[in-house]
Amino acid sequence: MTPPPLGLYLHIPFCLQRCDFCAFYLEIYREGRAEAFVRSLIHEIGLSAHQHVASGRPIQSVYFGGGTPTVLAATQLIAILSEIRTHFALASDCEITVEAHPSTISEQDLVQLLQAGVTRMSFGAESMEDGDLTRIGRPGAVHETVVAVSQARAAGFTNINLDLMYGLPSQSLESWQRTLAHCLTLEPTHLSCYALTVEEDTKLASNIQRQRSPAPDESLQIEMGEAAQRMLGDAGYERYEVSNYAKQGYACRHNLLYWTNGEYLGLGPSAQSYLDGIRFGNVADLEAYDTSLAASHLPIEDRTRLSEKEQLRDAVIFGLRLIRGIPSHYLHQHAANYGYTAITLQLLAQQLIEEVGGRSRLSTRGRLQADTIAGQLY
Ligand code: SF4
Repeated sequence: MTPPPLGLYLHIPFCLQRCDFCAFYLEIYREGRAEAFVRSLIHEIGLSAHQHVASGRPIQSVYFGGGTPTVLAATQLIAILSEIRTHFALASDCEITVEAHPSTISEQDLVQLLQAGVTRMSFGAESMEDGDLTRIGRPGAVHETVVAVSQARAAGFTNINLDLMYGLPSQSLESWQRTLAHCLTLEPTHLSCYALTVEEDTKLASNIQRQRSPAPDESLQIEMGEAAQRMLGDAGYERYEVSNYAKQGYACRHNLLYWTNGEYLGLGPSAQSYLDGIRFGNVADLEAYDTSLAASHLPIEDRTRLSEKEQLRDAVIFGLRLIRGIPSHYLHQHAANYGYTAITLQLLAQQLIEEVGGRSRLSTRGRLQADTIAGQLY
């Protein structure tokens, strides 16, 4: 029997500065710290390959995320990838993605990454209006995104994603539509459009509390989500997940693993894994991470074995976000397991969840309330 697909996630925990809205675990980039981290990560790759059930299974996707992976030199990313190839068996059509901030990558880097086997570049554009970037404390400028995409294409990349956020402080519907229209002229194969959420303990949360920045307007965000669906749909992108759009054949294989309750091994500080029914995560502290690996111990901090009920719950919560949905009996079994039958029937009656051909998914209206519905069924 063919083993189920397995993904590898590498968390690169450095950024040049922290954006106002960001609550991820990260460190401000320092060359010496980054060099020590790369040594630790390379050590972790070898240790993991020998200790996990991941060992020997073909890897379908490798994802360099962060943080900002491209604050590392291309040669460092390539050394990490080479170590992965030494210890894991990559499928011949393995999708290998590198996330990049457009201002941290050159054409030369892109050529090197492509030659090393990277198949997909994902640029954090966020907005195509400089004023929006300034208001969220995001370094860089729109023209850098335009240049980075054109350089990636010139280098030979054919699979390019742009990450966008909407509902930014003072962003209007028209300005969001201009951002979408500008992105479409760059012809990416994939677009991720996330509504801004205000995380605790961020500069943005503090700015809103002090009335230096307006709080996101939920009804405007809903209109913006609808505008994205309309404009991107008209341009030939399929909305295959609540926040993700792709040209045919370009859905992100790695992210699909998360939404289909697939298995993945996460390496790097704070990286999360799901293997063999167990969720586990690495320590979210670079010093503790380095110390653990210096002693040849995997830096795993917590480990939870999910019961069958919990595995089904996660399959339902993530799978409803997919446009292809989940088998309807998953939804009803989950509802019976957790006493959610009444709320499930209500969501169906309100047409927030729809059943089509024996499969259940969020309806168009339901997608606009995806997080609320997930909270009701979790
Ligand atoms: S670049 Fe990304 S990870 Fe880094 S601070 Fe900004 S949002 Fe957070």
